[in-house]
Amino acid sequence: MTITAHLFDAYLKCRTKCFFRALGDTGTGNAYADWTCAQEFSYQLEGVTRIKDGVADNECITGPLDRKQLKFAQWRLAVNIKAHAQTLESTIHAVERVPCDTPGEPAQFIPIRFIFTNRLSRYDKLMLGFDAIVLSETLGRKVDFGKIVHGDNHVTLRVKTGALDSEVRRITVQIATLLASQAPPDLVLNRHCAQCEFKKRCRQKRIGKEALSLLPSITEEERTRHRSVRRPLRGRATLHCRHSRFGRTLFTSTAVPNSPIRKLRRIWTLRASLTASPTT
Ligand code: SF4
Repeated sequence: MTITAHLFDAYLKCRTKCFFRALGDTGTGNAYADWTCAQEFSYQLEGVTRIKDGVADNECITGPLDRKQLKFAQWRLAVNIKAHAQTLESTIHAVERVPCDTPGEPAQFIPIRFIFTNRLSRYDKLMLGFDAIVLSETLGRKVDFGKIVHGDNHVTLRVKTGALDSEVRRITVQIATLLASQAPPDLVLNRHCAQCEFKKRCRQKRIGKEALSLLPSITEEERTRHRSVRRPLRGRATLHCRHSRFGRTLFTSTAVPNSPIRKLRRIWTLRASLTASPTT
């Protein structure tokens, strides 16, 4: 299956989201997710318009890049480039072509990504790293760095994409493994849920089922270990709802160490939405 930038982006946030997207599922909607999407789109349009300003019309192209014509290419800027290489695909916001000063040396190709937020995260850099790999494989050229234009002031950050190469490739292998399996991954509610288009569905599925899924901070190995333990109950947590006088008892049959129980108790106390929901 082709791993697109859309799937790569989803995987960075949540494995389940990536799985849903790969199935063509669009979710039940989320006002915040819609707003973010609209912001991304308009910022990208504005960014492309700004960057095209300083380039002559005949030096700017759109559409797929022809690898065979690269040697004779005259363009300086390519925008909205659909790049496809083996199993990877991305629509790159812009690509800058910088001819080399030394005659006979190949030109440099720099992918550019527009991100509307003022603060950048590791994910943003990995997305640029993904673009760089797809571009590099499409053109058959080395792409060592890229640019992120971001925020209200359109600040440009130069990123060494070569340094992200191994991490991006490792993630693409993990995505391929995930998509090759028929069963969805373990559902683990996490920080991104509030902004996710699948929020309603996942919450309904999870609230009242296995409480370990409410702990995004514990690793997959720990989760498996806790599940595999079959011995008499070591910890019993009675969680008291702030909005009612009834307490709920979690974990009645599986041994769960005290530490997750403490975390769950904290989550229960902090999240109003959980406190209002039944847990069994
Ligand atoms: S709602 Fe949360 S758990 Fe569900 S797909 Fe979105 S991020 Fe993943």
